[in-house]
Amino acid sequence: MKDLSRNYINGQWVDWQGDTLDVFEAATGEVMARVPASDRDQMNQAIAAADNAFEAWSESTLEQRLKVLEQLHAGLKERRGEIAETISREVGMPIKLATGIQAGLPATVTESYLKLLPDFAFTEQVGNSEVQYAPVGVVGCITPWNYPLHQVILKIVPAIAAGCTVVLKPSEIAPQSAYILAEILDGTDLPKGVFNLVCGLGETVGDTLISHPDVRMVSFTGSTRTGGRIAHAAAEDFKRFALEMGGKSASVVLPDADLGAAVKGTVNNCLLNSGQTCTALTRLLVPADRHDEACELAAAAVAKMTPGNPLEDTTRLGPLASAQQRDKVRGFIQIGLDEGATLVAGGPDAPQGCDQGYFVQATVFGNVKPDSRIAQEEIFGPVLSIIPYTDEADAIRIANGTAYGLSGAVWSADQDNAKRIAGKLRTGQVFVNGGAFNPLAPFGGFGHSGLGREFGKWGLEEFLEVRSLQL
Ligand code: NAD
Repeated sequence: MKDLSRNYINGQWVDWQGDTLDVFEAATGEVMARVPASDRDQMNQAIAAADNAFEAWSESTLEQRLKVLEQLHAGLKERRGEIAETISREVGMPIKLATGIQAGLPATVTESYLKLLPDFAFTEQVGNSEVQYAPVGVVGCITPWNYPLHQVILKIVPAIAAGCTVVLKPSEIAPQSAYILAEILDGTDLPKGVFNLVCGLGETVGDTLISHPDVRMVSFTGSTRTGGRIAHAAAEDFKRFALEMGGKSASVVLPDADLGAAVKGTVNNCLLNSGQTCTALTRLLVPADRHDEACELAAAAVAKMTPGNPLEDTTRLGPLASAQQRDKVRGFIQIGLDEGATLVAGGPDAPQGCDQGYFVQATVFGNVKPDSRIAQEEIFGPVLSIIPYTDEADAIRIANGTAYGLSGAVWSADQDNAKRIAGKLRTGQVFVNGGAFNPLAPFGGFGHSGLGREFGKWGLEEFLEVRSLQL
């Protein structure tokens, strides 16, 4: 059991003597670490440190910022194995995938900003005006458990690159990689107070962070419910905010598509990280006359997802991150049965041989009604809903028929036609015929999925105010 009873404030580790929170290993349910349940006073100290550091860091040179990001990048690569194992045990992602995604993406994103920053124009001339892009100020970063380091990096790297100072409150369910990050940053040339870490609950330290007048922006990733609260709190004080929230993304298979490739691609995407992915393609929309074939293909794809301890090489599907999430997802599977959807694979019981920990069977429902709860609400577990459609207009109506709009997919033998349909989806990104993920492209949501964008230059611009000098 790792004792992490400390916060990182103003360039030093501050021991915490008060209440602590247990961090559980997803596959066993055993306590693997302990972190502070910090109080509002600790958070106020961290905000004061970030506020004190802001003026100097806002005036730092490009070289200073690049040097810190280079050091961070090297540290992330060096500690890649440790990061992957920590997150695999906390969140449940199989170790091989965790090495590539949970530990690999943070380094990739940091590298992308190292490449982008030298060419980014912090000033530009428009007629007789000089337009300047100035850092927003102290930024509060609040993050969820599912990609715990990646989501932190997507905020703190562009924020620091923009000249902002930050206070991070990571998820209390998967906080350990944030400690590794703080250790790495502690070894860089980042001036004290530019990065601060305070661990604790949303209702206490999270609330202090979103309501403090010296915090000028909140960058949040998490549930739509919490995002709504943050938007309210930020509005009270006219803070800026960026919200990355939930999704219920549709994978639209057009009649001429390779159904086998489309179903396989959708199932793999939906079950990635046991479904704990905001962009998961959780609704598979197929022409009604190919529904039964799609169900058979999905059942065959799911059968290959061997459940087990994520640290074992044979495991394809790990557990969920918490007992609460496991119970919520199993509850949704029962709701699907009660709503009359056809159970194609899986079910509400634990997978065989996985009685400990937070396991849920990979589950597929067929004949799902577009307006049913399992087709409308974010489940955040390994559950796929197959929905038959009648024609193109019906498919687009169903795809756009939820409150969310984070991601989506279109599959067709005709790439231009697929692009045409993709352009009709009310969603922040669309994967056309299994196109590869691009860390330089903007990422974010329409509707209840979010406000603002992360990744690339769009991610950097979130942390900049615009000033114009009339000359
Ligand atoms: P959550 O909203 O419960 O918690 C997210 C963070 O907010 C945690 O750090 C939590 O402590 C904090 N928080 C909770 N209440 C708060 C409050 N009142 N004030 C301030 N902070 C508070 O989300 P979660 O359950 O940890 O994560 C899962 C959700 O995140 C899913 O809905 C998922 O779709 C979403 N998500 C979205 C993206 C994206 O980029 N769009 C990425 C990953 C996850």
